[in-house]
Amino acid sequence: MANENCLAGIRCPHCDNEKEFEITVEAYARVVDDGVHDLTSENDWDDDSRIMCMACRARGTVGEFSTMPSADVLRSRHGVWGEHPDYPADDWRYEVGNDDTRQGYWEWVASSIERDMAQE
Ligand SMILES: [Zn+2]
Repeated sequence: MANENCLAGIRCPHCDNEKEFEITVEAYARVVDDGVHDLTSENDWDDDSRIMCMACRARGTVGEFSTMPSADVLRSRHGVWGEHPDYPADDWRYEVGNDDTRQGYWEWVASSIERDMAQE
């Protein structure tokens, strides 16, 4: 079953594990000269945080493991001049030609993925 909470949209691209990951988080420590007084539990991560799949030990960034990647993640995955296999550039050109979208190609792919995931 797909994750709905913390790990919504996170899946290992190598083995499809969705259960358990190690993610590098940013935490804040109150530090004085004597040492650390308080480590806040406010942990946070974003698309650039490091992640490791606990099933197959594959490593990458949270963005790379996301089933709903941002346009920036898609661009770095496929290259600026690349193409997403499920969202051909010809379809995007057609929509641009009809003035149905004014988004760039990767922005259009990202919002198409988001739309299609919402319909599932
Ligand atoms: Zn894996």
